[in-house]
Amino acid sequence: MKPLVLIVEDEAALVTMLRYNLEKEGFAVCEAGDGEEALLQIAERKPDLVLLDWMLPLVSGIEVCRRIRRAPHSRSLPVIMLTARGEEGDRVRGLDSGADDYIVKPFSPSELIARLRAVMRRARPAAGEEVLRFADVAMNLAQHRVTRGGRPIHLGPTEFRLLRFLMQHPGRVFSREQLLDQVWGHDVYVEPRTVDVHIRRLRKALNEEAASDLVRTVRSAGYALDARR
Ligand code: CA
Repeated sequence: MKPLVLIVEDEAALVTMLRYNLEKEGFAVCEAGDGEEALLQIAERKPDLVLLDWMLPLVSGIEVCRRIRRAPHSRSLPVIMLTARGEEGDRVRGLDSGADDYIVKPFSPSELIARLRAVMRRARPAAGEEVLRFADVAMNLAQHRVTRGGRPIHLGPTEFRLLRFLMQHPGRVFSREQLLDQVWGHDVYVEPRTVDVHIRRLRKALNEEAASDLVRTVRSAGYALDARR
């Protein structure tokens, strides 16, 4: 699968140039014209790297970068800041906000590609690191990716946390209340019934293509991850 790069830039000509060069080098590309759109795309498309312009309408690139770092699902997402400013102070601020690298405009496409590859190399977790496995399901925590039998599974943030918790305790039965505490947190008021809704979504996502159901419902007790049928 081609690595996916999200370009966050409001200048159309620059987006066209970046897209052309990235696609030529074998990357897949998605775009966002402002910070809000960028955060949405990150949650939905789960890019492998973000090229983030500093000067954006509404929310600045710096603020977008901070929000990327604050959200658990994007904490380790590689970010390269693009900017026209070259002063040392700005550079430090960019890196302080959590960017992995910083490129000053104008830059050559080959420089950009080289820096991008370097950042991606550094971000890739070591083999066997941060991957949970259960039956034919693999969950890469750093990349926030789930596969079943090698096929990608798309989960919402709650289903992801729910599956992560179940995969950390395979075979154990948890009541709805326990799952609420562990997955949603103690301070959040959520109806126990909500757990059923998210379990249903998780099942649906995991069991595409008529694979065996890995989520066991234990009547009046709760749920467990279980491969024995
Ligand atoms: Ca801009």
